[in-house]
Amino acid sequence: MKIPKAIQLVTESFERLPGIGPKTAERLTFYLLHVPQGELDRFAKSVQNLKIGTITCSTCFNVGEIDPCDLCQDTRRDHSILCVVEQPLDVIALEKSRKFQGIYHVLHGKIDPLNNIGPDEIRIAELVNRVKGERVRVKEIILATNPTMEGEATAMYIAKQLKAANADVKISRIGRGLPIGSDIEYADPTTLERAMEGRSEY
Ligand SMILES: [Zn+2]
Repeated sequence: MKIPKAIQLVTESFERLPGIGPKTAERLTFYLLHVPQGELDRFAKSVQNLKIGTITCSTCFNVGEIDPCDLCQDTRRDHSILCVVEQPLDVIALEKSRKFQGIYHVLHGKIDPLNNIGPDEIRIAELVNRVKGERVRVKEIILATNPTMEGEATAMYIAKQLKAANADVKISRIGRGLPIGSDIEYADPTTLERAMEGRSEY
């Protein structure tokens, strides 16, 4: 049997998504065949507008609707404590824990030599410049990259860069409670709260 082209194309698109294998991609596509056309149109439109409707903050590189983002503009937050994370999803996870009241810097990745991602591919230089040029002096930088091999290597590299730039700032690493190899993105708010409290000087 020849699979219709329209089905093939949607299946292929799903297959390119992380964590979706060929079987799941097929199942999702055939599921969509049962969905009313109006709902499909809304779905397609929302995907189409995903990037058009968002903007990357030129200060912290988080994803938002305005630039600077609402977190960077919030004067109630403590702008002297800066938390460095790998992805925007980590910001969402940390915000859920409500423990952290400072500001963020999103790297958009981690140093990962096996996948050809070096320090220049992520927002490390921007972080160093930001710490030097920020109007409100940054007193502490919390390195909250994931407790994985790549996350640790990234934290170590950033600490070295900050020291080399003579940044007069306390550098700390998000602490105990986060299982080794885990993702901040998936950690529950209580664990994150404890990890923030248990941070230690790097
Ligand atoms: Zn921002």
